[in-house]
Amino acid sequence: MTALLLHNALLPHGGHADLLLVDGRIAKIGAVGTLPPDDAVVEDLGGALLLPGLVEGHIHLDKTLLGLPWVPHLPGGSIAERIAAEKRLRHSLPASLEARAEALLGRIVAQGSTRARCHVDVDDESGLGHIEAMLKVRERWRERCEVQLVAFPQSGILRQSRVADFLDEALKLGVEVVGGLDPAGYDGDVEAHLDLVFVLAGRHAAMIDIHLHDPGELGAFELRRIAERTRAAGLGGRVVVSHAFALGGIERKSLERTAAALADARVAIMTAAPGPVPMPPVMRLVEAGVTVFAGSDNIRDAWSPLGNGDMLDRARLVAWRQGFATDEELWQAYTMVTEAAAKALGIDGYGIREGAAADLVAVRAAHVPEAVVECPARSLVIKAGWVVAREGVLLP
Ligand SMILES: [Zn+2]
Repeated sequence: MTALLLHNALLPHGGHADLLLVDGRIAKIGAVGTLPPDDAVVEDLGGALLLPGLVEGHIHLDKTLLGLPWVPHLPGGSIAERIAAEKRLRHSLPASLEARAEALLGRIVAQGSTRARCHVDVDDESGLGHIEAMLKVRERWRERCEVQLVAFPQSGILRQSRVADFLDEALKLGVEVVGGLDPAGYDGDVEAHLDLVFVLAGRHAAMIDIHLHDPGELGAFELRRIAERTRAAGLGGRVVVSHAFALGGIERKSLERTAAALADARVAIMTAAPGPVPMPPVMRLVEAGVTVFAGSDNIRDAWSPLGNGDMLDRARLVAWRQGFATDEELWQAYTMVTEAAAKALGIDGYGIREGAAADLVAVRAAHVPEAVVECPARSLVIKAGWVVAREGVLLP
């Protein structure tokens, strides 16, 4: 049996339909009651809103402390202090990286994420240890959630003696994305840092996703340099800058100039709707043609005790921080955890249409804006045509 028939789904743009899922794809969408079930398993959605599988655009599965008894947060202000605190904590954890990562994966799948991009630490101390563990984890979870891996230099590239080599090795092992971290603010040399990242991407046909916390005009300058390099390397559509706080802290003219450069180079921006720091102005960027999407970033780890891995909740947080109120604005927040995230991650065949991947999530809401506002229970999560979670509970 390879077919599943979803009966009476409410589609995101309105109207009810039946969907026949065959061999991991949406084979047919028809009026309610018109698709013959033949030998398909039938799931009656009872008019529930059916969305494409949510996309977790930025997560750190290797860092989470989920599954452990509560670990009180260690205070520390600067990025360097946080990195040092995390390394101290790492040595005393009673559960393996794999067990913690799988606890969080289970949670995000039960909440409807069928795709994720996971940044994995690479540094002199742990070498490829985290990467090797996460390669195993993603293989075990492949049928429930497809996870892209980013080799993430959490302790910098230039400040570490062997990280450039480890990044190279990680990409050879099947990691799809090369990461970066504050080329100026952390590594202290914008061009040398970007040289390494872009050379590795070219060598391995990898995508790029750079953590950029550098503020103000410094960060804006780095964004424009990343855009210029992306254009020069012909990597449009394959480069992401995560956080990009700078975009929320510069004057209008500088924002317009930087947004135009990002749009022209097709560099996407990821935001986690962060706490009390400047946040990229979503609507102004989207109006300038920039792809903006969302991710959870840290969840219950040394960086933050907050976060729950629910991408509808993340869309709601984006709406909250941006002051979104109209249906159009709430739709924008929704797009950031679905279509825009899929586009930024280079995912083909995404969405609810015939031929697309049968990655779907059903929620009890009357329409998309209400789903963003309410974050309703996930009645059904479907990955590649099969039910993987029901009523918020992962199936065995
Ligand atoms: Zn991050």
